[in-house]
Amino acid sequence: MVDAAIGGKNGVDLGHLKNQIGVINPPIMTIIDPAFLKTLPQQHLVNGSIEMFKHGLISDRVYWKDMLNVTDYLTDTFNSLIYQSAIIKSDIVTMDPFEKGPRKALNYGHTAGHAIESFLMEHEEREAVLHGEAIAAGIVVESFLSVQYASLSMDAYQEIKDWYTSLNFTFSFTDDEVMEMIDLMKYDKKNTNGEIKFVLLETIGSFVTNQVVANEDILAAFKELKK
Ligand SMILES: [Zn+2]
Repeated sequence: MVDAAIGGKNGVDLGHLKNQIGVINPPIMTIIDPAFLKTLPQQHLVNGSIEMFKHGLISDRVYWKDMLNVTDYLTDTFNSLIYQSAIIKSDIVTMDPFEKGPRKALNYGHTAGHAIESFLMEHEEREAVLHGEAIAAGIVVESFLSVQYASLSMDAYQEIKDWYTSLNFTFSFTDDEVMEMIDLMKYDKKNTNGEIKFVLLETIGSFVTNQVVANEDILAAFKELKK
């Protein structure tokens, strides 16, 4: 409702690599009816909400705060947050349909998050996760990097970390596993010449794109998931 339905991206995975092939074609019509949310288990409601939090982080501090106050996903208040999220995404993709600039911000949390998803798909002995769950972990990793490489304050980072902690996910990776994920990140289509380019936050509500980060800092950022 707030993400894949808007923006016309149609992608398929190639092996274990996420969204490697696809086209961008806007739909003729998109129908968003929150009544369908009643059919979803809580885990999937949480999963879907992660991209809404992401929308707040990249574009609107007030919206982020409103999302933090949500206690129930089946309310008129939450329905209006779905509407606002759809508008945030729609405004960005209208401005930049082919991801030359601002649309890249929608990948916040996804460079690390997609690597986590691909890694867990490749390692069948590890428990599978939902997309939003991996993106929440990716948001923590990339927010930690934002403190070092962009101007995100430690207080803002802590606020994001507290949100993540409240979700009770249990991600934990060894350094060797993170190195494997760093290799996976190089396949991300945003990246060229083997450099990994991150979207990072300057504040809650504003971002910078195309930030190159040292591997040792990515390793340190993944350690935040265990704390
Ligand atoms: Zn996503």
